[in-house]
Amino acid sequence: MEQIIEFKCQKCGKCCRKTLQTIKLPNGKIITTGPQIQLTEVPLFEVQALAPQLAGGKKRRILTYQIATDGCPHLKGNDCSIYEKRPLVCRAYPVQDCLVPDARCTFVESHALFVGNDRFTFTSPIDFKGCMDAHRDIYGVYRSLKWFKPPFWIFDLKTKTWHYLSISDMEKVVEMNT
Ligand code: SF4
Ligand code: SF4
Repeated sequence: MEQIIEFKCQKCGKCCRKTLQTIKLPNGKIITTGPQIQLTEVPLFEVQALAPQLAGGKKRRILTYQIATDGCPHLKGNDCSIYEKRPLVCRAYPVQDCLVPDARCTFVESHALFVGNDRFTFTSPIDFKGCMDAHRDIYGVYRSLKWFKPPFWIFDLKTKTWHYLSISDMEKVVEMNT
């Protein structure tokens, strides 16, 4: 029987040092985003470190924020200075959208057999349990938002503009992650 390896953070700080990434929207546009910060987590950051990320409704009510700087202000050396209080997105890392671990994580890199640019399998099955639990909590927060109503918008950090997301795009994102 194959041995299951437990995810063990190598404490290299890489994921906190390079936090911005580009994503492709369903309409083909490429935007730049940072780690998602829930409304309850906003007080953990200085105002200037954050930007809005997702918004809902005609008045664009903000649903989530994001770390706007490339590199988290809470990283000191290779350590998180707010580790015990760190946001859900950090607890879930390297598990990301679609439950696919981020290939940029040092642990993932060292246990993955790469098939293409971003497609890979693991050398042994990996147990990401703690990260999966945090990831599920993120989407629990989504579902509990009473104002989670269309239309939806996502904010591009590079151009500082909002991009429209259709209802099906948004539902797809939520369904794929729960
Ligand atoms: S809050 Fe801590 S764990 Fe999260 S990105 Fe910042 S330094 Fe890293
Ligand atoms: S990149 Fe991976 S191994 Fe390195 S600190 Fe982040 S989660 Fe841990």
